[in-house]
Amino acid sequence: MLILGSHVNFGSDQILGSTKQALSYGANTFMFYTGAPQNTIRKALEAKYTQEAIKLMTENGIDINKVICHAPYIINLANKDNLEAWNFSCEFLKKEVKRVEELGVKYIVVHPGNFLKQEVNVALANIAEALNKILAFDTKAMILLETMAGKGTECGRNMEEIKYILDRVNLSDKVGVCLDTCHLNDSGIDISKFDEYLDAFNELIGLEKIKCIHVNDSKNECGSHKDRHANIGFGTIGFENLIKVIYNPKLENIPKILETPWVEDVAPYKVEIAMIKNKTFNPNMMEELPKEKNLSGQ
Ligand code: FE
Ligand code: FE
Ligand code: ZN
Repeated sequence: MLILGSHVNFGSDQILGSTKQALSYGANTFMFYTGAPQNTIRKALEAKYTQEAIKLMTENGIDINKVICHAPYIINLANKDNLEAWNFSCEFLKKEVKRVEELGVKYIVVHPGNFLKQEVNVALANIAEALNKILAFDTKAMILLETMAGKGTECGRNMEEIKYILDRVNLSDKVGVCLDTCHLNDSGIDISKFDEYLDAFNELIGLEKIKCIHVNDSKNECGSHKDRHANIGFGTIGFENLIKVIYNPKLENIPKILETPWVEDVAPYKVEIAMIKNKTFNPNMMEELPKEKNLSGQ
């Protein structure tokens, strides 16, 4: 079954707003931050919104087990040179995991971190240590390490680095992987040969570890290490290659999440989701975006 959605806001009515927004895009899943992605200020969750959201999901065929949370990207689990900041990142992610569990959501995507001035392997081991601090036997949520573009000193820019972390995690059934097509492309993976990548991934890590796919086109060439997302079919990866990823039989039932850029303050997701469902690229997509602006804000 195709499980397709996009990044949505977590507004004043929290996950209820996210759910409504996802449904307005014709999605059957979604991804949200539990607050602003660039800071760690978080409001307490309100049970009434969560309950209403779960009801709305059930009524509309959204499986909450396929809904994705994304941790804020400012936390850095890799750098222990600044021990205070590292401890803060660990504590904060632990709290985020709790929030996700409170919402009834299973997966939380995390950027592995930046190695900065450390040796890469030291940084990767730090990430594993952080995960070991955060995860407990009774943790119900699963942390998904995202594959990164290799911009600056990003960790997780190839599957070997992801494996290096996974190998050092004690509760390994509580850590999975999120593939991001833009990041893969920018890290040097040719998405037109995606099956070869999957075979190699299966050999090294195992396909069962993949729990989420971020589907994005890229503004830059393969191997550019840039990380700038483009709308589906408007980048260097191209519509057909992305369709092959989305409909890859090996990745069936894995949620696919669009993180493509808004176009002049308008969310592109309704139109992109329609294109993907029809398997037909619409080169006039930008002109056909709904004119009313999304006012729910972030
Ligand atoms: Fe991400
Ligand atoms: Fe991503
Ligand atoms: Zn990205």
